[in-house]
Amino acid sequence: MLKNKECSYCNVHINTELEEYFICQDNFIQTKYFDTEDENTFCSQECFCNYVQLEQIDPLNEE
Ligand SMILES: [Zn+2]
Repeated sequence: MLKNKECSYCNVHINTELEEYFICQDNFIQTKYFDTEDENTFCSQECFCNYVQLEQIDPLNEE
């Protein structure tokens, strides 16, 4: 039986037996962000960064 999950950010389907995916291992973030273990699934590091609203700050361009 195939195991399918979805990226929590972009909702792309991931076959977890065949495809690479990312999960967050940090306990604090896990309890804060994810209601279920399945939600802790991302197709890319970029999707995870977007999910936790990682933002780039450029001090030279700040107003
Ligand atoms: Zn994604």
